[in-house]
Amino acid sequence: MRILLTNDDGIHAVGLRTLAESLQEIAELILVAPERDLSAAGHAVTLHKPLRMKPAAIPGLEATVYASNGTPADCVVLGCLALPQRPDLVVAGINRGANLGEEVLYSGTVSAAMEAALQGLPAFAISVASYSPPEYQTAADFARKLAQILPHIDLPDDCFLNVNVPPIPGEQIKGIELTRLGKRAYINKVEQREDLRGQTYYWLSGNPEETDSSEGTDIAAVAAGHISITPLHFDLTNYDLLTNLSSLLDQLSE
Ligand code: MN
Repeated sequence: MRILLTNDDGIHAVGLRTLAESLQEIAELILVAPERDLSAAGHAVTLHKPLRMKPAAIPGLEATVYASNGTPADCVVLGCLALPQRPDLVVAGINRGANLGEEVLYSGTVSAAMEAALQGLPAFAISVASYSPPEYQTAADFARKLAQILPHIDLPDDCFLNVNVPPIPGEQIKGIELTRLGKRAYINKVEQREDLRGQTYYWLSGNPEETDSSEGTDIAAVAAGHISITPLHFDLTNYDLLTNLSSLLDQLSE
């Protein structure tokens, strides 16, 4: 099995290295990752400048490694289409920090897994729900298990998995749960400041605001010490509104 690994924290991230160390026991690894931290890069792809893929090395790792000036989604495209052999599976992570609820829309890690699904490959994104202290081993062990099973499971073409792991040792994990996305918005503040030359600049920020962390959500599962697996797909159509929004059509047709 050949596994393509990428992330959005960058090629030097400990989470990526821990993931690779765990997966090298079961597969041939190819790493194509951004040369710097591109967290919250979303699904951006690069169309207006040359993309580079420079050979790199990670000490102690037997893998083909490239650092790219591209985004996480670029890295997946490069790993699938620019190298001699196509991977059998794509794994993105291990991200430093959770990707729960609406965060999946901003996350470069989740978008990398989505790009893999668009390329017709099985894929999952995996994140640890903490910034510090980063406890990656539990997620790395789980990724190895999932990577061995996922290629043999019949997922629909446009589907991939988003995995969030609590930041605790493996023996303290209470279970594994299939979940839906909760609601958790946190870019809800813009700070206006002034630079030394008197020019205005802005910082996007905010605090996580959980408006749905009810039972069955990814947020609740991780809070309860469970590993959360959310099956995602890229059809954003609101099917209820397809039939319930006819009043809009009526008014537009008047
Ligand atoms: Mn990140």
